Amino acid sequence: MIYLEGGAIIDSAGEVKDSWRPRALPRAESVLVASSMTRWPLPEPMKLALEQAHAAALAGEVPIGAVIVKGGEVIAAAHNRPRALHDPTAHAEVLAIRAAAAALGQERLDGCDLWVSLEPCPMCAGAIMHARLARVYYAAPDPKGGAVEHGGRLFDQPTCLHRPEVYAGLGEAESVALLRDFFRARRG
Ligand code: ZN
Repeated sequence: MIYLEGGAIIDSAGEVKDSWRPRALPRAESVLVASSMTRWPLPEPMKLALEQAHAAALAGEVPIGAVIVKGGEVIAAAHNRPRALHDPTAHAEVLAIRAAAAALGQERLDGCDLWVSLEPCPMCAGAIMHARLARVYYAAPDPKGGAVEHGGRLFDQPTCLHRPEVYAGLGEAESVALLRDFFRARRG
């Protein structure tokens, strides 16, 4: 299995297969973007996040999924559910953070990583800060609603109380396809 460690993708034999290269991102220095990633299988947590996004679409929710990993183990997975829960805050990231904190019996998620299929919005970026998540991996950028490499870029602000490591681009094509198909079907 291919996994991410530090700035590199390492295969099961421990060999470095590729490394993170920052894409030119004049507006957000803190985001590292995966390049030439599509040649390698997606890391398991991102596959799970995309499966959650697909499940959201089947339930009539905007297809966004999130997974939280601690020590290599998935401790929470969720998808967008604002419609089902009648809750505008029921974004995938918030639901996954709540589930992970409940599973661990603590209010913070130190040492945990969040994998999400779309760039987090301002609310979710805030929740990520409060949860003290160590790393955030998101698949697709969201120029309209995102707040990491777009909009308010919360993690780059001097008032940011906790700055996770951020990696973008793994699974981007898959995430974009899910979102595009969902909105195309709804318009049709
Ligand atoms: Zn959100």
